[in-house]
Amino acid sequence: MINSANSIKKVVIVGGVAGGANVAARLRRLNEKVEIVMFERGGYVSFANCGLPYHIGGEIADRQKLLVHTPESLLKRFNINVHINSEVLSINREEKFVTVKDRESGKEFEEYFDVLVLSPGATPIRPAIKGIDLPGIFSLRDIHDMDAIIEKLSSRRPKNVLVVGGGFIGLEMIEQFKHRFASADVKLSLIESNPHVLAPLDSEMVARIEEELIKNGVNLYLNDPVTGFEPLEDGIAAFTKSGEKIEADFVLFNIGVRPETSLAVDAGLEIGARGGIKVDSQLRTGDQSIFALGDCIETSHLVTGESGVIPLAGPANRQGRIVADVICGIDSHYKGSLGTAILRVFGLTAAVTGANEKTLNRLGIESQSVFLHPSSHASYYPGACSMSFTLIEQPETRKILGAQAVGADGVDKRIDVIATAIYAGLTIDDLTDLELCYAPPFSSAKDPVNLAGMIAQNVEQNLVQILHPNDLAAENSPSFLLDVRDEDEREKGFIPTSKHIPLNELRGRLSEIPRDKPLIVYCQSGQRSYNACRILMQNGFQCKNLSGAYKTWSAISSG
Ligand code: FAD
Repeated sequence: MINSANSIKKVVIVGGVAGGANVAARLRRLNEKVEIVMFERGGYVSFANCGLPYHIGGEIADRQKLLVHTPESLLKRFNINVHINSEVLSINREEKFVTVKDRESGKEFEEYFDVLVLSPGATPIRPAIKGIDLPGIFSLRDIHDMDAIIEKLSSRRPKNVLVVGGGFIGLEMIEQFKHRFASADVKLSLIESNPHVLAPLDSEMVARIEEELIKNGVNLYLNDPVTGFEPLEDGIAAFTKSGEKIEADFVLFNIGVRPETSLAVDAGLEIGARGGIKVDSQLRTGDQSIFALGDCIETSHLVTGESGVIPLAGPANRQGRIVADVICGIDSHYKGSLGTAILRVFGLTAAVTGANEKTLNRLGIESQSVFLHPSSHASYYPGACSMSFTLIEQPETRKILGAQAVGADGVDKRIDVIATAIYAGLTIDDLTDLELCYAPPFSSAKDPVNLAGMIAQNVEQNLVQILHPNDLAAENSPSFLLDVRDEDEREKGFIPTSKHIPLNELRGRLSEIPRDKPLIVYCQSGQRSYNACRILMQNGFQCKNLSGAYKTWSAISSG
């Protein structure tokens, strides 16, 4: 039932990009009469933040394409009254008005509302370290930042570019710096304080991304936080905890964001434990007249139930629709986020959905993960490439908790299927049953998603036990490692101390395998070693299959 404009005459929106613009447009589609006023601190509304790195890199050549709407087009099409360069300074909840500062004239004025919507986004984290405010240290958040970065890079081509922060934006930017300076000799360095880049992915999965960065000439400094910067005659020196000094003439500092909550805090609205504005499932704050959405709020994680800040465009856009619905009397609810995310790093794509092992372990949620290396499509069809895939399930319920994939092709659709499966509460058994589209150029008759379900089922059915490569060193009793690959694979490398018996010879050479030691069996990707485990188990041996096999082990070991 859509509310007529009788009770709500005026909606004021703070922030005119992803969340704010979505609220405004849907609100207008639902209600022609309500007055909609939008305040945006910056000079642009409804722009494509996610496209900013690709304009800096030159892949999106036309800057105009990033500007989805202007104040004029929003007025014309949606009859929305947009004020740019207008910062909302405070909220008066009792009298229901906001105080706004026109940043061009410096004048302040009041705007009354029936309903207030907060979508002010997030702020880049800038820790109080020495030299953080030096000119030449940039962050990327909006069009103004993008323009400033491009101006600096165009005024003089840098010789050394340093990115601090190996998260999604940092890695996209490293890739795009390389794209921009493709023909020039520009040194790229990346500093990350954690042991690995891309914190949402587990360590087994990021090894390939780190290899790809190194392959593309990026100097990686991992597990080494920046402690400060100093000006040089011709640039900046960054210092790290381990004592490294990295000289650069351009620095991008993007180590993450924190929710922009200052307005909410000053107005006495409740802030959650993770620093975001607290909202209910209809995205209302504690004040029934004030909604909040996007990067500034806390939402619950759909898998863990934990409250957290998930700064992604998808949630902000969908929340915008819900806020407009609720204002108009439609009973919409936001159920929570999965943190589904993706990025391209040179020739590889990495994607993630749901919870990772680190989080599940921290929360004490029992989980089982399996690693596999399926082909992006039928291996006999040209262009097939191997992807690293991990599926995490809950042994008791067999429900899917998360998945991650890294590869050159086909990663996005597999993670999207798993995201849908998690949302629908599907189990590993459902994954084996899914009928997904197949022809050789696109997939295999057993899609990687089916295979992941089958492998997880095999483990749950006790057809095989698995050992994770990370746990290999921790295996306490002296074990017997068995390599069942072919000779040519063995020649390229093997796990030290392992005995080599190719799978095809295994039945005839069982006498060479000790019965008094735990056996760990591996092949290249895990499939042949599963066959070997089945032979061994049915001959009375106790054995475990090395999950992810030599591919995962070697990726971790080279890291
Ligand atoms: P925003 O879209 O940031 O909008 C908030 C606006 O509020 C800002 O323009 C700000 O100026 C304004 N504002 C703040 N305070 C005030 C005030 N007091 N008064 C008036 N106005 C105010 N997400 C993905 O899912 N995929 C991606 O590939 C991806 N890439 C990204 C790349 C970059 C470079 C960046 C910066 C972000 C990226 N994101 C991506 C994240 C995504 O853009 C955000 O999650 C999304 O924009 C959040 O929407 P929002 O409305 O909460 O905040």
